Amino acid sequence: MTPLSDTHDADVIVVGAGPAGSTAAYYLAVAGLDVLVLEKTAFPREKVCGDGFTPRSVRELVAMGVEMREEDGWIRNRGLRVYGGGHRLELPWPDLDAFPDYGVSRSRKDFDDTLARHAKAAGARILEQRSVTGPVVDERTGRVVGVVARPVDEAGRKAGEEETYRAPVVIAADGVSSRFALALGLEKDQRRPMGVAARTYFATPNSHDDWMESHLELWDGAPGRSNLLPGYGWIFGLGDGTANVGLGTVSSTASTAKVDYKELLRRWIANAPEVWGFDPDAPLGPVRSAALPMAFNRKPHYSRGVLLVGDSGGMVNPFNGEGIAYAMQAARTAAEVVAQARSRRTDAAREATLATYPRAMADQLGGYYTLGRVFVKIIEDPRTMRLLTRYGLPRPALMRFTLKLLADVYEPRGGDVSDRVISALSRIAPAA
Ligand SMILES: Cc1cc2nc3c(=O)[nH]c(=O)nc-3n(C[C@H](O)[C@H](O)[C@H](O)COP(=O)(O)OP(=O)(O)OC[C@H]3O[C@@H](n4cnc5c(N)ncnc54)[C@H](O)[C@@H]3O)c2cc1C
Repeated sequence: MTPLSDTHDADVIVVGAGPAGSTAAYYLAVAGLDVLVLEKTAFPREKVCGDGFTPRSVRELVAMGVEMREEDGWIRNRGLRVYGGGHRLELPWPDLDAFPDYGVSRSRKDFDDTLARHAKAAGARILEQRSVTGPVVDERTGRVVGVVARPVDEAGRKAGEEETYRAPVVIAADGVSSRFALALGLEKDQRRPMGVAARTYFATPNSHDDWMESHLELWDGAPGRSNLLPGYGWIFGLGDGTANVGLGTVSSTASTAKVDYKELLRRWIANAPEVWGFDPDAPLGPVRSAALPMAFNRKPHYSRGVLLVGDSGGMVNPFNGEGIAYAMQAARTAAEVVAQARSRRTDAAREATLATYPRAMADQLGGYYTLGRVFVKIIEDPRTMRLLTRYGLPRPALMRFTLKLLADVYEPRGGDVSDRVISALSRIAPAA
């Protein structure tokens, strides 16, 4: 590695090469910055996810010039198929200027690898099997001036001596646990919503289905005779003879409900529509679960030379559990802020520019996430969930509005009445 100067190994260090880290690295490299990404795993590797990408994610991928060809495994979908309260509804993605009218599915094993390669091709350096163990803090200023990393093997075991990498800015894109943020004392806000989701894969003859399928009824006991849990189950065909099958629930605070997700998934999958042809006793892998940090549950998004991007900053959408689009959007925003900061001539001006990142994120998503927090509180009551599925689903106009609101896919300016209502609500709601 050629050091930039006596004191720096890169202009920016990015911790983690998930969607947030690779997107930030891509944009920084395109802007001409020397960016070093440290990733603890080796690609390709699994990531617990639904493998579903709404038009909002597709828009980010298009902006980065990522090719999404079917023959490379990008399976397009044209909308959401919703089951609930005895109803079945197909809602096409809306026809909007601001978003493409399709989503995709792709396994995260391939997706994260593709995105990391894309960043590399743009000029980013990615060091795999480097587990960042903590920040390097300048004792005099309290600023983070680099990271300490440990080489690890494929199993995550120590495989060498600790290394120090220095840069004036660090982007923490290390996911929901964000040990890096924790090391700086940035705890998650217990009062913000948290989700938990679990998934596995099944063989299916319906793998090329071009709808993202969601099931709104998750019973905590016998169907129809117990409580409806706030959340949904999904089935996303992956086009390779398999489907990603999973479910997630949400809670308005970090004290997530005690749910046996494996058992819930087993019970739910036994009642999946026949067309999928699932053999409930033959999943293609273990059921894996992880937490979904929502509605900016870790802040501030900038302090002491460190920007939080994606799950590390709690950026999952509380309405629907989607996180990739937001990780990418925040990464794009963070990269732009960092590139601007670098062009400023004094330390004070650079710092002032970096400090605009939290405001930019609050402006983009704060109001919408405040609405999402209210939504989670409302659906937490099983009676409300029951009423919504029973009386909401048979109303197509209401459901088209709900799709736009829940998927965050609406015209931000102009559009029809539903677009204008959602954008007005998001603007009026305080970005807390
Ligand atoms: C079951 C489930 C289903 C989901 N389904 C969907 C879906 O269908 N669509 C959707 O949009 N979102 C979905 N999400 C949410 C989505 O997975 C996340 O929001 C998204 O992965 C966030 O991206 P990220 O880059 O911030 O974090 P991550 O994807 O978690 O990436 C973090 C990266 O940092 C690396 N890392 C961590 N610690 C260190 C360290 N100390 N040193 C070096 N590297 C480190 C990790 O190895 C990883 O590569 C789902 C989540 C779950 C749990």
